[in-house]
Amino acid sequence: MKTVIKYLLAFSCLSSVSLTAGAQANYLKIENYKVYYGWAKHFPQDWMILRRFENQGRQYFLMVNPQTLQTKIDETNFYQVKTMTMDAARSFFKGTPYQRALAKAEKRSVMIQDAGIEMGMPKESGISLTADLCPSHRPLDKRIFTDIFTEFQKVEKPAPIALSITGIWMRQHPRDLEWLKQMEQKGEIYITWINHSFNHRVSKTLPLKENFLLEAGTDITYEVLETEKAMLKNGLLPSVFFRFPGLVSDQQLVKRITDFGLIPIGTDAWLAKGQQPQAGSIVLIHGNGNEPVGVADFINLLKSKTKAIAQKQWLLYDLRESVDEEFESAN
Ligand SMILES: [Zn+2]
Repeated sequence: MKTVIKYLLAFSCLSSVSLTAGAQANYLKIENYKVYYGWAKHFPQDWMILRRFENQGRQYFLMVNPQTLQTKIDETNFYQVKTMTMDAARSFFKGTPYQRALAKAEKRSVMIQDAGIEMGMPKESGISLTADLCPSHRPLDKRIFTDIFTEFQKVEKPAPIALSITGIWMRQHPRDLEWLKQMEQKGEIYITWINHSFNHRVSKTLPLKENFLLEAGTDITYEVLETEKAMLKNGLLPSVFFRFPGLVSDQQLVKRITDFGLIPIGTDAWLAKGQQPQAGSIVLIHGNGNEPVGVADFINLLKSKTKAIAQKQWLLYDLRESVDEEFESAN
């Protein structure tokens, strides 16, 4: 009997290994995690380096493809490297969709709420869905993901969704996180992970200009880098996107975020606030169980589009591609 159990255990371990084969590795012993900018070249692709870290004796870069906005973690010794300051790297990669998106976000930085990129490709019919995972004691709102899978399984598999994640949520909800990763490993959804700060502090009484990340005593470096480290530890690949808690920021804060190489992502359709999605909208709902109205609105939206979805006339767009295409031809 014991042998049988052992065999079953060994078998289930093996199958979980094969399931995770294509997934992001978990970096469990990260040391010296820091911002590090430059140009990494491995023919035929050029990458902009954003971070450098060590894990179990190996050196890694977090890099972005400035044409496609795709990120990647790789060992440093595969690349020919030129270290640069942020300003030098930005002028070196000037004209790429990545640099254009950063510059556009900075131009829209004076608004106290909803700065950054808030709309993707107006020519397309369909939306980019973003769901925020702010700290919450409620469980993950799984309807969003199961309904997307049900509607899109015949037309768009995996269906893309961008999740804005906080360090605290990752700590509070390891099982929900595992469930999301499994949906992804089964090819049911594809997740772009957006940095949504570590602590996501919020005050019920402070005015917006002193609230969220603008609250006195906030350590922006900690909020950005600790979230990335927590993502890497949990096997999530950080993207180049950032969403401000409460969508609240000021010009100086936007610059601090773009100085980390991150593109602030706003929304033009926060469903729970009654904002209607248009073609190309970046839609915002909350996946943390705190905003069931927005999720219900999203599910109704999906149901109303069933026919268009089946005819591939209404799709979900990968946030990276939406932002990328928006800036491919822009000046
Ligand atoms: Zn939030």
